[in-house]
Amino acid sequence: MNQEPASVPSTVQPGLSLSCGYGTDRGLRRELNEDSYIASDPVFAVADGMGGHEAGEVASGMCVRALAAIPQLATGERSVTAAVLQQYLLQADNSIREATGARAGTTLTGAVVVEQMGMPYWLVMNIGDSRTYRLSQGRFEQISVDHSEVQELVDAGEITAQEATVHPRRHVVTRALGTGDETEADYWLLPVEEGDRVLVCSDGLTGELTDEHILRVLSTVGHPQDAADALIQAALRSGGSDNITVIVVDARNVLNDAGAATTAPRHDPDAGHEDTLPRSQAAQSATQPLPGQSGEAAEHESGEPHHDRH
Ligand code: MN
Repeated sequence: MNQEPASVPSTVQPGLSLSCGYGTDRGLRRELNEDSYIASDPVFAVADGMGGHEAGEVASGMCVRALAAIPQLATGERSVTAAVLQQYLLQADNSIREATGARAGTTLTGAVVVEQMGMPYWLVMNIGDSRTYRLSQGRFEQISVDHSEVQELVDAGEITAQEATVHPRRHVVTRALGTGDETEADYWLLPVEEGDRVLVCSDGLTGELTDEHILRVLSTVGHPQDAADALIQAALRSGGSDNITVIVVDARNVLNDAGAATTAPRHDPDAGHEDTLPRSQAAQSATQPLPGQSGEAAEHESGEPHHDRH
């Protein structure tokens, strides 16, 4: 299962208005689409399964279904917390392990819209190397930090971000759900700004397109569904070597501190190809725990002999 029903657009609070677009494509080289996603206010998330022979799809589907069970989805309340999310992710981790014997796993990233003191926030979560970006007030940035071997090498100053994009081990993830290793996600809490556009995507997008290319599409295509479609088409034109999943969420009518809706400028218009496998299945690993994080952990790789993910 690749998707949960989405409600688009949705307006829950009198002020904040969200609209989103989304899509997924098997790509041009994979037999299966092992990505799954959920785009249902307040949860917008993408899971990229690994495991092959449909196990990856089972894993990513279970992860997304676990998120779909969060009660706030039914009520529309914006009261989800990182602690609540982590509980559901742990349940997903257990379910995936039981269902697949720890032979499959999944990444997860995305944003949950929450409210604190009446103000809206993006609660961004990540485990693995799918990504969440935000285009806000003309600035485009990757919010999530990949749990990957190449990210560790970049952090250690051993390779540049540019070199990471072509590194042979760029698909090795250091954390995932279902693989029995590190399952703690990272979380970020960011105030929603007027005109924010959030992008959640699997590595089938970022493996094909540079951040500059992605920004060009996000800042020039108005409707979020058109933007999602355009990104997927661009990734296919670039090779489509992996499953591609994209969610674009726009926020309008954000209330400012005075309680009045503000109108801020819209976006500033200027502003690899292998499988993903757990590191435990990748040959030799150069493990470097990130500062402040508990350790290496799990996985995701691709590389040559990918036995997984076909
Ligand atoms: Mn992928």
